[in-house]
Amino acid sequence: MLKAPKNLCFINGAWRASSSGTTFPVINPATDERIAEVPALSQADVLGAIDAAHAAFGQWGALPARERASLLRTIGDLLLSRREEVGELITREQGKPLAESLGEVSYAAAYLHWFSEEAVRVCGDIIPSDAPGKRIFVLKQPLGVAAAITPWNFPVAMLARKMGAALAAGCTFIAKPAPETPLSALLLGELCEAAKLPPGVMNIITGDAPMIGAALMSSPLVRKVSFTGSTEVGKLLIEQSAATVKKLTLELGGNAPFIVLEDADLDRALAGAMFGKYRNAGQTCICVNRFIVHESVAAHFTEMLAAKTRSLVVGNGLERGTDVGPLINDEARDKVARLIASAEREGARVVAGGAAPAAPSRFITPTVLSGVTSSMDIWREEIFGPVSTVTPFRSDAEAVSLSNDTSYGLAAYLYSRDLSRALSLAEQLDFGMVGINDTAISAVQAPFGGIKQSGFGREGSKYGIDDYLALKYLSVA
Ligand code: NAP
Repeated sequence: MLKAPKNLCFINGAWRASSSGTTFPVINPATDERIAEVPALSQADVLGAIDAAHAAFGQWGALPARERASLLRTIGDLLLSRREEVGELITREQGKPLAESLGEVSYAAAYLHWFSEEAVRVCGDIIPSDAPGKRIFVLKQPLGVAAAITPWNFPVAMLARKMGAALAAGCTFIAKPAPETPLSALLLGELCEAAKLPPGVMNIITGDAPMIGAALMSSPLVRKVSFTGSTEVGKLLIEQSAATVKKLTLELGGNAPFIVLEDADLDRALAGAMFGKYRNAGQTCICVNRFIVHESVAAHFTEMLAAKTRSLVVGNGLERGTDVGPLINDEARDKVARLIASAEREGARVVAGGAAPAAPSRFITPTVLSGVTSSMDIWREEIFGPVSTVTPFRSDAEAVSLSNDTSYGLAAYLYSRDLSRALSLAEQLDFGMVGINDTAISAVQAPFGGIKQSGFGREGSKYGIDDYLALKYLSVA
């Protein structure tokens, strides 16, 4: 049974409306139902949240790591205890099938648990000095106030991944969730309150993104910003970070290739393709954008992919049996429709689906396009929808060069039965993450992140906490 979320911001341990009284609506993308109104905070409210996080930092950063770890574990446990409710809320505001939302809740809790375990393992170094009698100590200390700006595609998991690392490191935290999906993020505030997290340690604020972004970026009190979202906004944040020389983590867009070598197990490749392409209606940063298939198996693999794609059930994510939900909003639908139409105009062939819906529907029929070439928009742009494109290649060298023909460098996939050949190609792929015979590459233990215009910094894993720590060295004579 879904409890009504509070629909207020969580600042300094209390639930607040906007001081200006303004709100904005949250819409279910499957039904157009208005689910809630949440605060559009004023700039003064945002500055108040920054002050609260700053005031809380001294005590939180000095708390024994074991105590921070214990609080994080409790929040993770509380999240799991409300898994069904949070999962349903994610589907209602985001659209993905309920099974995927439930998976996201477990995945988010795993980050909170993981970082509760990492909190107690932040160790410095003692380094031998060349100078007799001198000692060099290296300390790792929390940066201070950390802020996160998160997208709508994994509203709870993206937030938990950042919050877990920040709180474990000893930073206090301000989260600004995407306007499409603020409710599941605000629900995390309820969990922090229930866990008795000290006031000001976690703050969740909603409202106008450019205003909030500018307030966070220009504040000297905010020492760190972690952003997951588009490369376009990431570049803006890099510019804005210059004024205060702020430390950034940027998890930006992707344009993942999926190479199928002629010796691949095609059934296995198909299973990986379906998960790697159509999960979340194709709206993940590591979704396959380009199937790059050896010419000797391209026609067969395309037909297999098309047949399986036609079998997908499109619908409201709350309905049992739904495989693919709606796209998040009208702009997303229009973008995907434009990419399908332009690819067709430029000579791609529709093998499955292809019919973009008329407004106001946001349900796109899963689509397969063959004959896609590197001159097409759909090759260069992140599709972010349930559309597969297939391009044949002749040699391993061509597969690598086609794959690397993008300004992005987040995830890539490669299917082959020959592991040493696959490893050799993986080493040549310009991406932060490569799945070999695997598309389920997100894991709390693994460093998630990209290179090139997909950003910098890593989240999750033993490396993720470093983004919230500063090294300080003591020279003792
Ligand atoms: P987006 O438009 O960049 O939005 C992301 C967040 O940034 C939202 O909360 C948005 O709020 C906010 N924002 C927009 N303009 C801003 C500004 N001037 N200052 C501060 N914040 C601002 O991205 P999206 O379309 O929501 O998300 C999809 C993108 O995220 C894709 O490119 C995807 O690849 C990427 N992504 C990357 C990863 C990764 O780990 N690399 C993971 C998931 C998603 P408003 O909506 O109010 O503008």
